[in-house]
Amino acid sequence: MKPHHAPPAVGGPDPYFPNSGDHRYRVHRYELALDYRPGPNRLAASARLSAVANAALAEFALDLAEFRIGRVLVDGKTARYTHRGGKLRIRPAKALAAGAAFTVEVHYTGNPRPVRSPWGGLGWEELTEGALVASQPVGAPSWFPCNDRPADKATYQVAVTTPSPFTVLSGGRLLTRTTRASSTTWVYEQSAPTSSYLVTVSIGHYQPVPLAARPAHPQAGFGAQAGHVPQTGYVPQRLAEAFARDFARQPEMMAYFAEVFGPYPFGEYAVVVADEELDVPVEAQGVATFGTNHLGGGWERERLIAHELAHQWFGNSVSIADWRHIWLNEGFAKYAEWLWSEYAGGPGAAVHAAAAHRLLAGLPQDLRLGDPGRRLMFDDRLYQRGGLTVHALRLALGDGAFFAMLRDWAGVNRHGVVATSDLLAHASRYTTTPLGPLFEAWLERPELPPLTG
Ligand SMILES: [Zn+2]
Repeated sequence: MKPHHAPPAVGGPDPYFPNSGDHRYRVHRYELALDYRPGPNRLAASARLSAVANAALAEFALDLAEFRIGRVLVDGKTARYTHRGGKLRIRPAKALAAGAAFTVEVHYTGNPRPVRSPWGGLGWEELTEGALVASQPVGAPSWFPCNDRPADKATYQVAVTTPSPFTVLSGGRLLTRTTRASSTTWVYEQSAPTSSYLVTVSIGHYQPVPLAARPAHPQAGFGAQAGHVPQTGYVPQRLAEAFARDFARQPEMMAYFAEVFGPYPFGEYAVVVADEELDVPVEAQGVATFGTNHLGGGWERERLIAHELAHQWFGNSVSIADWRHIWLNEGFAKYAEWLWSEYAGGPGAAVHAAAAHRLLAGLPQDLRLGDPGRRLMFDDRLYQRGGLTVHALRLALGDGAFFAMLRDWAGVNRHGVVATSDLLAHASRYTTTPLGPLFEAWLERPELPPLTG
């Protein structure tokens, strides 16, 4: 019998991006040292990866876009390599044994530029003044050599040296900031396991704008820890006031999400407002990047604030095994928008769900949510139907069981990797009703089911 749900592709290439990543080893730590000159868009960098071989390896591959490669070392010894088509294939002097821990060091220089994709340029993007990184799904190799699979999560140290007037932001905690001559080195430590596409750097003229550490209007029942997540905006000075106004409710949102999804999974949350217009905001580990066009208030912008924050739980902490399961990121982030609306006194989730259902009913029904294919993985219908599927689960379970299920999903899989089949197994523990038919209708068939649970 054909399985209903795609199993996680832990043992093979990603079905949507078979050229990305190498499943024969896993990386547990990256140490990146970048020297970046914004004017000429010049990067001189080294990357040191600590990895473990899953099998005996005479050679292995890293993903890295076009750069001039200097030295490549494996366990401190010079290794041979070829570099073509975005793959840096490395042949160590001595083959690696199955289970062996090893280090790879790559020195490289060049002018980083975005990786071309059907969704536009991905990864490192030069700005008028500075740079930003938005890699989802396969843009990370535009700036560092990596095992570019969402399931291969690692800790990161990112050190960036750049002219002193610039501010540098990366995910995690700022360890040191050292100025020497006219350059400053910023060292960030991300100690939570992180997918390569969620590693980010922003370089620009930014003013830090701390948001209130506690909810502006605390409600009964909030966990005490929720208010203590440091939340800072990095915004062009002239937009500091607009940012403080438009993001004023984010601390309250953080507290509400910590209640319904469980404790915030990271040590801090930073919001960058790049000094450009961006198509859509984008999430990274502990960071979200918005454009100037996302300021100005109103529901269409407020929902994006909720969406990006929710990705810290769904996508960043609870990560997908491979890209077929993208709806687990986007459906839950979409549903978080509706939950926030309901909580914040706007239309309830049921109202948003009904509107999404009406919208989808008038559109082509050729999308399989549980395996949409690469072409449709960021289609707006995937977001809407993803939110609807979470709502259908809520209707099937009832509020009590649904919210327990939701919180436990984020808790049990915190910093982990999941597939759709894991959600079915998990949610089935919260009801005596078999959920197979619901998953089949919403995730495996393209026709839009009625919204009855
Ligand atoms: Zn999203």
